[in-house]
Amino acid sequence: MTHVVDGNAVANRIRDDLRNCVDALEDEGVTPGLATVLMSEDAASETYVSMKQRACEDLGIEGIHRELDPDAPADELLEIVAAMNEDPDVHGVLVQMPVPDHVDRAAVLRSVDPRKDVDGFHPENVGRLVAGNPRFKPCTPHGIQKLLEAADVDTEGKHAVVVGRSDIVGKPMANLLIQKAPGGNATTTVCHSRTADLGAKTREADIVIAAAGYPELIDGSMIDEGATVIDVGVNRVDADTEKGYELVGDVEFESAKEKADVITPVPGGVGPMTIAMLLYNTVAAASNQADVPVEL
Ligand code: NDP
Repeated sequence: MTHVVDGNAVANRIRDDLRNCVDALEDEGVTPGLATVLMSEDAASETYVSMKQRACEDLGIEGIHRELDPDAPADELLEIVAAMNEDPDVHGVLVQMPVPDHVDRAAVLRSVDPRKDVDGFHPENVGRLVAGNPRFKPCTPHGIQKLLEAADVDTEGKHAVVVGRSDIVGKPMANLLIQKAPGGNATTTVCHSRTADLGAKTREADIVIAAAGYPELIDGSMIDEGATVIDVGVNRVDADTEKGYELVGDVEFESAKEKADVITPVPGGVGPMTIAMLLYNTVAAASNQADVPVEL
């Protein structure tokens, strides 16, 4: 029987553990604080930020939220981030991407204090991850590590194929998989849009991690019998539903499930883990900055 991993259940367990950490910090007079900045009228970005804020509230993390007009000068965004960097009640700072075209994305990522960079996108934190000494693991790949652990999938010695090489999912995922550490030690192949014969690569994988943003790119014929399939993709496709669309992953679930031993659904797989790990990083940041150790 294929194990369909319940990401909501795993994420809830992580949140329950984090609640204990938040209580322990509170006992020492520390309330973790996460500041979010939104400079976009994109509906999906607004939804993501409000989900993050609600998740904070639910856990007892103080959520601070600032919104900027998308036409505002870039300096205004940088000034807000600088103020958040200085604020001792703010332990994590997150600028919701994407930012408007006139704002230099790289400059925004560099502007966040690396100790408060709970997304893990500051070059210093990217460097630390690559060097095998991560400060904050980026939330989605970290969540995938936790899902694999919860599903009893040992990565050591396995061949993992990551489809996608973005800075937020594919690259950090590959870097975590090759670490000399639990959740790593995998032989890792990274594929992208220029990869020749993607199916030949994925069929060689013990673990396939699909993060291409292309609906149902990977079907059962591209999966080896008994493999583990992690579907990161969230794609809107037209459908005869009330909203006129439905969400599908990068994996064609039904045919892949026939082959896989372990598979994550969309929705309800990787998605809930991303927010859980943002909360995790925020609690870790608060613990570090306040010098109050907690058991994470
Ligand atoms: P990006 O668009 O930044 O990157 C996509 C990557 O996939 C690129 O490296 C691209 O290659 C590669 N790719 C695209 N098409 C193909 C193809 N046909 N064959 C092989 N490789 C391909 O996306 P993200 O990494 O930001 O996100 C990926 C997906 O994951 C999206 O659907 C996104 O919505 C979802 N997501 C879900 C999250 C969650 O919490 N569930 C969190 C973050 C993302 P190239 O570099 O050559 O262009």
